Amino acid sequence: MDLTTQRPLPAAFGLHDRHVVVTGGGRGIGRAIALCAAASGARVTLVARSQEQLDDAAAEIRAAGGTCAGVAHDLTDTESLDALAERLWEVAPVDGVVHAAGVQLRGPAVDVEVAAWRRVQALNVDAPYFLSTALARRQLAAEQRGSHVFIGSLNSSLGLPNVSPYVASKTALVGVTRALSTEWAARGLRANIVGPGYFRTEMTEGLLAEPAHAQRILGRIPAGHLGAPEDVGTAAVFLLSDASSYITGQLINVDGGWLAS
Ligand code: NAD
Repeated sequence: MDLTTQRPLPAAFGLHDRHVVVTGGGRGIGRAIALCAAASGARVTLVARSQEQLDDAAAEIRAAGGTCAGVAHDLTDTESLDALAERLWEVAPVDGVVHAAGVQLRGPAVDVEVAAWRRVQALNVDAPYFLSTALARRQLAAEQRGSHVFIGSLNSSLGLPNVSPYVASKTALVGVTRALSTEWAARGLRANIVGPGYFRTEMTEGLLAEPAHAQRILGRIPAGHLGAPEDVGTAAVFLLSDASSYITGQLINVDGGWLAS
């Protein structure tokens, strides 16, 4: 019996002719993911709240030779996510989605109020789940392949003090990834999650501006420095591309070695 596969090797990292949606694509890690996807040949549609940031990011991508559109949408409006999926599908059938929109909430667990807890779960868990399932409904009906990439955190693997709603949300995303990957694997859809370590963005700038915190964080990173948002971008592009076609249900950490140490 010949155990080798006869498939031609995929053009590694190529996203040509793919339509990729990136939430939170207006700034930070999401913007870097969108730039990397566009540089790999994808047609990119960004989703975020701020029209100004969307316009700015789309202009940067176009200036670099990419194809990009922006859709302003509040992803915490969970009931509207099927309509958002329809709007994205009308741009072009969606091949891949990266859920980079997210929010942090710092403070002791004993002080977390119900509304604040729900806001974190709404953006970090409900939005990726319901947007991915709404897109998957269309991908399955069209019998096409699809790659769904969730963005977790170190907190997908470990707890840290004073960020309990965030830890709960990023751990839940690992469960979402595993459940969707097993449910969809035989039908051509994959789901994976990237776990970024520490990156300098608006989300972390307050924390990193405190020298004691910054030193403590740097001291825990074997690589000795923070990540660049593009490091998450290239991991996401790999998971979107055919180069990872047999990888599904996995958490891939991009953390300079933090979780291994
Ligand atoms: P950021 O705060 O710079 O960007 C967050 C993005 O989410 C923005 O584009 C914003 O417009 C969008 N967003 C926020 N609320 C929204 C809403 N209601 N509707 C639509 N869009 C909304 O954050 P970042 O650091 O770039 O983080 C991106 C992702 O990476 C998040 O999921 C975050 O949890 C994760 N992450 C970040 C780090 C880090 O060190 N920065 C580490 C681990 C994980």
